[in-house]
Amino acid sequence: MESEHFDTLRLHAGYEPADHLQSPIVPIYQTAAFGLGDTQTAAAIAAGTKSDAYTYSRVGNPTVRAFEKRLAVLDGGVDAVAVGSGMAAISYALLNVAEGGGRVLAPTNIYGASLDEFRTLLPKFGIEFDFFDDINDLAAIKSLIQADTKAIYIESVANPSTEVADIEALAQIAHAAGIPLIVDNTFPTPYLCRPFDFGADIDVYSSTKGINGHGNVVSGVIVDHGKFDWHNGKFPQMTESEFILGNEAKQQTASFYSKFGAKAFISRIRMKYLRLFGAVMSPFDAYLALLGVETISERLSKEVQSTKAIATYLTTNSHVEHVYYSGIEADNKLVKKYFPRGIGAILSFELAGTEQQVAAVLDHVHVFTYLPNVGDVRSLIVNPVKVTHREMPQAIRLKHKLNQQVLRLSIGLEDVNDLIADLDQAIAQAF
Ligand code: PLP
Repeated sequence: MESEHFDTLRLHAGYEPADHLQSPIVPIYQTAAFGLGDTQTAAAIAAGTKSDAYTYSRVGNPTVRAFEKRLAVLDGGVDAVAVGSGMAAISYALLNVAEGGGRVLAPTNIYGASLDEFRTLLPKFGIEFDFFDDINDLAAIKSLIQADTKAIYIESVANPSTEVADIEALAQIAHAAGIPLIVDNTFPTPYLCRPFDFGADIDVYSSTKGINGHGNVVSGVIVDHGKFDWHNGKFPQMTESEFILGNEAKQQTASFYSKFGAKAFISRIRMKYLRLFGAVMSPFDAYLALLGVETISERLSKEVQSTKAIATYLTTNSHVEHVYYSGIEADNKLVKKYFPRGIGAILSFELAGTEQQVAAVLDHVHVFTYLPNVGDVRSLIVNPVKVTHREMPQAIRLKHKLNQQVLRLSIGLEDVNDLIADLDQAIAQAF
């Protein structure tokens, strides 16, 4: 698709109707495998000389591929791999960069399951984490880098505080140390922020959220900027000889770096992690996610406006102690630089009340739905400490002022007046 415009690309990029019986909508290829044709074609596919062929839906599927290509274009990357959840995207990206042992720097102020994985699971795979509390303390972050540090991982907009990261400065720190910057860009989506424009190397998404936007599919995406030099000696997995890439008969060997160049990282995700660990996205889920992407700009634009109005309303409510939404901080330079269209549709606030009063708000909302998700066209509410961030140790929560009184909202497409009235009556009932 010959366009530089996001609004055109979100409808057309990565898909050629002429290749699919002129179907304007990406068809659902609901099949586990694809015929190999004749033995000659099968041999060419096995040798890797027929790269456009599909064989088995764990390795590639045309519906899923259209979603991957569309996301790669929207995010400004060289390629993408779709997976079965945002957590799979995070896990694969981190394993691919640091497998076999290494360290990763990450903030403590992130999604609860991500923090739990970094604290308690990935160390069992030889990947240790050096945590920092303040995403904007660049000197402290820099000082944590060691010889075996393999990446810096951040959330562009933190869940649930909405603190924003200085992506460009962090990319510079990472690159000076010969390591990539990996960004969980779930909250803004590529519509509100493209971390690659500021030097990030790998983006991970929970496309369960704003990318799809309809709360009907759990899925994830990894996008590769294609600019990082994996040949700098720190990433032997990219340059070592790989049996599946070579030609046994001709005794030729190849590595992901020698064979795929700028696409080494993302090709390795597909051929190692997706093929062998197997957390695939289903064709039907890709179809639904593609449908969601078609309206991403309109959804996010309205949701951001409503979120600002709700954040502003909450600042005026006498029962609200604090509103966490960097999108209304007029003097926040990082917000201005990275998020000219807004930071997203998630905010949180601390109620000036007891735990019982917090529970009463949750029990009295009618328009908001009480559930653990964000980025839906329906507005959602949750108490992070008890649900989405319960894996976060209390000492860390308290550092980030994430206490029992904090409620997180995800703003959808309802009339904003109804949303404000709903919060207003629920808070009034609680007090
Ligand atoms: N990253 C962020 C910022 C999230 O909020 C979430 C889920 O809430 C995830 C990753 C995990 O995504 P998924 O639930 O699709 O596995």
